[in-house]
Amino acid sequence: MQRQRCETVRCTVSNCKYWGENNFCIADQILVTAPKSPLPSADKHGAGAERLSTTPVMDAQDSLCYTFEPKRT
Ligand code: SF4
Repeated sequence: MQRQRCETVRCTVSNCKYWGENNFCIADQILVTAPKSPLPSADKHGAGAERLSTTPVMDAQDSLCYTFEPKRT
């Protein structure tokens, strides 16, 4: 049985430009990967991600949101 895609991302990283009120991510699409993974064929919002190699990790803290961009004030 195929599980449904995640349509909503909750996030507490409030200094990201895609962070929204009540800890919602307002980006249309994000890319989560492992630190220092080579990402030659995907942009920060995951376009082209289907061509990336997978990057298994052992713990949540080993994953990161590649879409993060610091909020400019
Ligand atoms: S892009 Fe990533 S870091 Fe930024 S608000 Fe969305 S989930 Fe959080």
